[in-house]
Amino acid sequence: MKVLGIESSCDETGVAVYDTGLPGAAGLRAHAVYSQIALHAEYGGVVPELASRDHVRKLLPLVRQTLAEAGLGVGEIDGVAYTAGPGLVGALLVGAGVARSLAWALDVPAVAVHHMEGHLLAPLMEDDPPQPPFVALLVSGGHTQLVAVDGIGRYRLLGETLDDAAGEAFDKTAKLMGLPYPGGPQLAALAEQGRPGAYRFSRPMTDRPGLDFSFSGLKTQVLLAWQQSDRSDQTRADIARGFEDAVVETLAIKCQRALDAAGSDVIVVSGGVGANRRLRARLQEMAAARGGRACFPRPALCTDNGAMIAFAGALRLAAGQHDGPAVHVTPRWDMATLAPVATAA
Ligand code: ATP
Ligand code: MG
Ligand code: FE
Repeated sequence: MKVLGIESSCDETGVAVYDTGLPGAAGLRAHAVYSQIALHAEYGGVVPELASRDHVRKLLPLVRQTLAEAGLGVGEIDGVAYTAGPGLVGALLVGAGVARSLAWALDVPAVAVHHMEGHLLAPLMEDDPPQPPFVALLVSGGHTQLVAVDGIGRYRLLGETLDDAAGEAFDKTAKLMGLPYPGGPQLAALAEQGRPGAYRFSRPMTDRPGLDFSFSGLKTQVLLAWQQSDRSDQTRADIARGFEDAVVETLAIKCQRALDAAGSDVIVVSGGVGANRRLRARLQEMAAARGGRACFPRPALCTDNGAMIAFAGALRLAAGQHDGPAVHVTPRWDMATLAPVATAA
């Protein structure tokens, strides 16, 4: 079945076609993302109303472009999947409205997808996907969660951040050292030139049991170090490296604990921070040392995209799930309340 996926929860418009009839990564027939980063940059963060309006402008051209790239006519689509939450209500409504209207016009089913389930399942789009049970680490701009995945749609929260998300910590730390918005990826690039060990920051909440995180204190440590330094380019890179090492090491320690708690050796990682090269290497090393593996989506599918929504929706549609015709979104939505997806045993 060929499923059109639409993502519009925040500041990325994403559209994709996923074909369940093709194996592994080949199932992704086409995907396109339009990022609004430039639009929001002068405000230093996402302005919700501007985001909604830009989704209105970009969504239909992206749908046309994606269908053309997939070599499909709109009438060949068998189902539509769209992000219904969590996210900005206005932005979500744009995607939901377009998706519902298309499904109505084409007389095909449409399914509401949870954005974080999209992130969580994205690694399963790649070749040789892991099968549940496994542990998922979600590290994005708004979330840092460890989730026990007992099956598709069967999620148990093991731990989460008590304050800043990992991506948010990257962005805020970048900002206080003068990097332009959103600074996460730039901070990571800068860390490549930094000397390991030149600055050492704490690994928050690793000195006590538990699987929760706290990243807000790290940025205060960085701020103090930056203010007391010579503020040279090399120092900035050294601090970036110290910060990145602290986040990566903290995540690795908690992932290891979560695998122990869940009795698993497979960690599945996604969300924007999953694109971080050092995190990928460190978690792969950690999983390999225990005879398991760490699975990631390709970097472009770590940040927001339509492919993950098409894929997660396709799994539900293929299992016969879909929602009624109302345009309904859920800006706050607990992943533990999702319906399980029955898969062939
Ligand atoms: P959520 O999914 O929780 O609603 P979001 O959709 O805004 O949040 P994503 O698009 O998944 O988040 O990820 C964006 C975040 O990932 C940003 O905070 C960004 O700084 C961070 N990020 C992207 N690339 C990297 C990288 N290479 N290293 C560290 N952080 C990164
Ligand atoms: Mg974004
Ligand atoms: Fe996201």
